[in-house]
Amino acid sequence: MDISSVLQGGYQHPLSRKWQAKRTLTKEMLMYPIFITDDPDAHVDIPSLPGQSRWGINKLEGFLAPLVKKGLKSVILFGVPLTCPKDGKGTPADDPEGPVILAIKLIRKLFPSVYIATDVCLCEYTSHGHCGILHDDGTINSVPSADRIAEVALSYAKAGAHCVAPSDMMDGRIKTIKRALIDNGLGNKVTLMSYSAKFASSLYGPFRDAAGSAPSFGDRKCYQLPPNAKGLARRAIQRDVGEGADIIMVKPAMPYLDIIADAAELAPDYPLAAYQVSGEYAMIVAGARAGVYDLKTMAFESTEGILRAGCTLILTYFTPQFLDWLDE
Ligand SMILES: [Zn+2]
Repeated sequence: MDISSVLQGGYQHPLSRKWQAKRTLTKEMLMYPIFITDDPDAHVDIPSLPGQSRWGINKLEGFLAPLVKKGLKSVILFGVPLTCPKDGKGTPADDPEGPVILAIKLIRKLFPSVYIATDVCLCEYTSHGHCGILHDDGTINSVPSADRIAEVALSYAKAGAHCVAPSDMMDGRIKTIKRALIDNGLGNKVTLMSYSAKFASSLYGPFRDAAGSAPSFGDRKCYQLPPNAKGLARRAIQRDVGEGADIIMVKPAMPYLDIIADAAELAPDYPLAAYQVSGEYAMIVAGARAGVYDLKTMAFESTEGILRAGCTLILTYFTPQFLDWLDE
């Protein structure tokens, strides 16, 4: 055999196989998505997201303490208002007594080491379930949408969030949020993580169950990106870098690894995040239950793909399990 034909000598040992990675999963790379609801005593399992629940703020300490002890470094909070009156501009999103703001303050106090990101969107709080403010004909009204998203982001930042992460996909919102943070003395205190390339995916179903955020009419295809859109995703990433994002995110992860690789090429000097979304998580769990593969092996393989594509941060519902698995 030719010398140039032999590769196996380089990865014959478990340790030399590890060295093949440019980047290996650590606990610092994991951000755990958490659903906070407005019933303070809630602990309600989400059937379509096995192992995940909606939590009331009175249950957060008991829920998070064991995870923090195992090395949980960061969370991203999603508000799930079930009882508040919703309206056209998502007024309850920044209610000072709302679940997200209360949770930010509580987690800061109970677990000062935990990095708190907050998802910023209006869809959980609007009567129509869309992510922005609408014209009478049901189309997006861009400028007031970005203004309102920035108002909500600013209120989370003022409550103590380390990072605000707009997922709404409204045009111009990154610039508007960055300006609001700077003008309020928070420009150097709060990270702006943009859901830059967020696709209109079928993989958000379990999340919508969890957050109660399905639109009451139409869909989100006029603001989330079409799944076939590579050029548009590249433009969105470059736009958000130009508008002042500190971290770029691609969502979902697994069907969009090429977009992650594009983001790594377009924004090489930025942390790059991927959201392994609810449907990806549910699919991996369902496959394991059906005997298709071993859950842990597949969970690692899925994140290895995301890291190989270029990510440095993964939002994943597997975080609690990885905290155990990474210690083994
Ligand atoms: Zn939304």
